[in-house]
Amino acid sequence: MILPGATLGMLGGGQLGRMFAFRSHEMGYRVVVLEPDPHSPAGAVADEHIVARYDDEAALRELASKSAVVTTEFENVPAPALALLETLTRVTPPPSAVAVAQDRIAEKTHLQNAGFPTADFAAVGSSSEAASAARRLGGRCILKTARLGYDGKGQAPVSNADEAVQAYAAMGGVPCILEEMLTLERELSVVLARGADGNMAVFPVGENVHRGGILHSTVVPAAINEELSADAQGLAERVADSLAYVGVLGVELFVANKGQLYVNEIAPRPHNSGHYTIDACATDQFEQQVRAACGLPLGDTRLVSPVAMINLLGDLWAEGEPAWGKALAEPGLRLHLYGKAEPRPGRKMGHLTVLAASPGEALQRAERAYAALGGRQ
Ligand code: ADP
Ligand code: MG
Repeated sequence: MILPGATLGMLGGGQLGRMFAFRSHEMGYRVVVLEPDPHSPAGAVADEHIVARYDDEAALRELASKSAVVTTEFENVPAPALALLETLTRVTPPPSAVAVAQDRIAEKTHLQNAGFPTADFAAVGSSSEAASAARRLGGRCILKTARLGYDGKGQAPVSNADEAVQAYAAMGGVPCILEEMLTLERELSVVLARGADGNMAVFPVGENVHRGGILHSTVVPAAINEELSADAQGLAERVADSLAYVGVLGVELFVANKGQLYVNEIAPRPHNSGHYTIDACATDQFEQQVRAACGLPLGDTRLVSPVAMINLLGDLWAEGEPAWGKALAEPGLRLHLYGKAEPRPGRKMGHLTVLAASPGEALQRAERAYAALGGRQ
């Protein structure tokens, strides 16, 4: 066990690293962040910030020498960086799991080989493969770059072979995946923590609404029956086992075709849809990340109150600083801002959560606060 007082290493300086640092500090750990941006959300609150690229070998060696364990908040860490760190110190999650999660072809192939339900898909590495994949899948599809896509970036809907060829060229001819477009009944997610001993602690299922490919809201409990909820959690647990995972894992699920579950994608880190746990669970996802990384017992994932979370994107700043006072007047509301200086459209600047007597009321009040900030309904 890595005990309080030790220093924890974080690869990546975004908001997830920032919330990890907050929780690490509460538990008595020090945090050292490696992140190229000198003004990052996590770098600003860490005890130490190594400003360097993720592939800077000297910087990685410095991080390892200072850290009892290194974890990440970012799936796009180059695989050789994690492999090097693993020779020098303890690393969670396993680099092999990060390698699967950072490439949509490896991810979907792993899921399919392990017997998990996914949307039908094909890897696309050339224009002719784009055309043949579109013909085989038929109907409406979605082309996604295999790597580096997030928040709906690097995706295009296509409905025939010509459009698939055009979209593939527009992506710059990089490796892609073509997926059948499912008619979604709901989007769910499950966040869990898994220890090195295989023990797991699973958070309640979140129900997510995306707008333009970006998460807008998460509500918990999800408006689904107990059977589907248990199935979703069980599926996420089996996915974690299949990767021999250690750490916090986010599993995005689709419900389509009359209540069937499909695995959409996995995140080898705390997940945006798990931010509700900070205010509404006995232990939150960032504390679980600390516990799993340090080999401590995992915490209680019990939901203390129905909750809704809404993301605050840079668009809210279009007419200047949002009216925080109005939102904060909402009872049960908590505001989380990530300390980003530049509010660009689509950029995640923060989130708010509202606790209420029922999930419906929590969402209604969260949306009201969001509208008071200038958010569109
Ligand atoms: P990202 O890494 O950007 O989150 P996702 O694969 O999760 O990429 O896609 C973002 C959103 O686009 C999903 O949450 C969902 O709303 C929609 N989407 C993605 N793939 C499909 C699909 N095969 N069928 C229907 N909708 C999809
Ligand atoms: Mg996603």
